[in-house]
Amino acid sequence: MARNRTDALVIGAGAVGLSCAYFLNRAGMSVQILERRKVGAGTSFGNLGLITPSHAKPLPGPGVPLKTLKSLFDPTGSFHVRPRLDGELARWMLGFVRNCNSKQHDYIAAARQQLMASSRELTEKLVRGEKLDCQFNDGGLMMLAISEAGMADLSALGKSLEKLAVESSEVDGEGLREAEPSLRKSVLGGLWLPGDASLRPDRFTAELNWACHKRGVQLQEDCEIKALNQDEGKLVSAFTDRGTYEAKHFVMAAGVWTPEIVRSLGLRVPIQAGMGYSLTSVRPDPCPSFPLLLHEAGMAVTPFEDTYRIGGTMEFAGPDAEPNPKRFMALIEGAQRYLTDPLGIGEPEKWHGYRPMTPDDLPLIGAVPKLPNLFFACGHNMMGMSMCVASGRLTAELVTGRKPHVDPEPYRPDRFRGMQLT
Ligand SMILES: Cc1cc2nc3c(=O)[nH]c(=O)nc-3n(C[C@H](O)[C@H](O)[C@H](O)COP(=O)(O)OP(=O)(O)OC[C@H]3O[C@@H](n4cnc5c(N)ncnc54)[C@H](O)[C@@H]3O)c2cc1C
Repeated sequence: MARNRTDALVIGAGAVGLSCAYFLNRAGMSVQILERRKVGAGTSFGNLGLITPSHAKPLPGPGVPLKTLKSLFDPTGSFHVRPRLDGELARWMLGFVRNCNSKQHDYIAAARQQLMASSRELTEKLVRGEKLDCQFNDGGLMMLAISEAGMADLSALGKSLEKLAVESSEVDGEGLREAEPSLRKSVLGGLWLPGDASLRPDRFTAELNWACHKRGVQLQEDCEIKALNQDEGKLVSAFTDRGTYEAKHFVMAAGVWTPEIVRSLGLRVPIQAGMGYSLTSVRPDPCPSFPLLLHEAGMAVTPFEDTYRIGGTMEFAGPDAEPNPKRFMALIEGAQRYLTDPLGIGEPEKWHGYRPMTPDDLPLIGAVPKLPNLFFACGHNMMGMSMCVASGRLTAELVTGRKPHVDPEPYRPDRFRGMQLT
């Protein structure tokens, strides 16, 4: 016997699922969220909280497979694959390589840019409009380089951003150090990205959940989807360890866990878990006054109002894989190359999370042809915080049949063969 029936059922209460629930509610729908753990406890918890419309450049690009090959076999390298036999991973890698050409690179960059530019604007509106107390900081972001090759990369990046109308400016190391005593002499210079922002991700999900709650969105935590039931080409209910939930529309926002939930429907979602790590401490003294991207180290630093976080690296190890303790050490060593104090005093809080990585570095947003009331809002790769608000709004527009505020075509789930259910 069904316990509940709503217009929309959202599976997963991360940054993406909560954004979907918020906009579905604003479109006039009754909404139920189901979350197997607690609100925001997944990958949206301990990430770096950077909102980076400047990061339109996707991972796949010309020459990328060769460049990453070296790092792949270094267990502390910034991009690593834990060796294992896994057909889905092999298929994912092939898909990734297929996207490593300039035509796809430019297409993907433009598609990421439209979603992130919209999300940057909508995030600020949402935070200010709903008075979300999440340490939102619209003060920009600095990319730093400690090598001549790194400086050349930043210079080339600045030029490519011009084409996407993203503002940036190069800054020399001396000027930077004068303004930022936390930087070491090794820093040769940087690229300033004034349009970027940051927020504390755990505060953002907690506050967005509260805004949803006040508007009447229902939430069930500690509630794991066990099966999805379909009838006559439509999804009708979700069977969970807390009973059965019926809805007219279903939104899959379960991040890296999405593939296993829909596998029994015959859908193969090409999402691999890209494990990343972070360390959170009290603010060091001196503390950087804005977020930093440490280019050669492939990691970032976010000074929050009350804490301080360093994080990054990418390890393809499978969902729910155990963390590699050496990677936490590698974060400190990486930050030490740029900063006088890589962490604040005391034992830092260790965290690892699983980025939902797709072979083309674009999310899946929209319905699948053979189950028109099942919508996907997942696969946000390294940019879920930067894309979640626009993704939520776009999903609500697609569910309710309203005019999408951005072109949804690049995010269609059925661009992948495994999603073309027959
Ligand atoms: C180290 C690190 C740093 C990062 N830094 C940034 C950054 O600075 N900026 C940025 O934009 N992005 C960043 N990211 C990426 C970002 O964290 C993710 O893209 C984003 O959190 C994905 O959000 P989500 O809502 O899709 O997934 P999640 O937050 O993982 O939410 C999915 C939810 O679904 C729930 N769920 C799973 N299975 C079930 C089930 N069977 N039933 C019910 N519920 C279920 C989970 O418990 C979870 O709460 C970073 C990631 C990492 C790892």
